[in-house]
Amino acid sequence: MSGRSENEMSGRPEEKLYSLYKEALEARKRSYSPYSRFAVGAALLTEEGKVYTGCNIENAAYGPSNCAERTAFFKAVSEGERRFSAIAIAGGPADSGELSFCPPCGVCRQVMQEFCDPETFRIVLGNSKGERKTYLLKELLPLGFGPDQL
Ligand SMILES: [Zn+2]
Repeated sequence: MSGRSENEMSGRPEEKLYSLYKEALEARKRSYSPYSRFAVGAALLTEEGKVYTGCNIENAAYGPSNCAERTAFFKAVSEGERRFSAIAIAGGPADSGELSFCPPCGVCRQVMQEFCDPETFRIVLGNSKGERKTYLLKELLPLGFGPDQL
């Protein structure tokens, strides 16, 4: 998996993606992850520039647990949003300040495929060293199945 710096990205200024990652860090503080002790926050940017945040929400029955990314998407979609440009994800052990690059799980990638253009939607990852990587959805979900196939 090869990342690319925001410097190489065209379009929105890199400051916007850095601030999006900061919002993911803030959302991570609200993570409910007593079982995995792995806290994740996400910040989803709409095409109009509005941000919806989410955190992972676990459950004693495990199955009903939800990822931070999908929490953000479902909040946004339930408020009427349909067009998105980027999501930042911050994840790591809840008891530590250490953050490693935390890519979205397969289920969340599929949810992104439903609402986002794989050619332009960006996924921003970061670590506690201050490093950032940005991927296009098409890089993380090649040959994705989406609404266009139906
Ligand atoms: Zn997920």
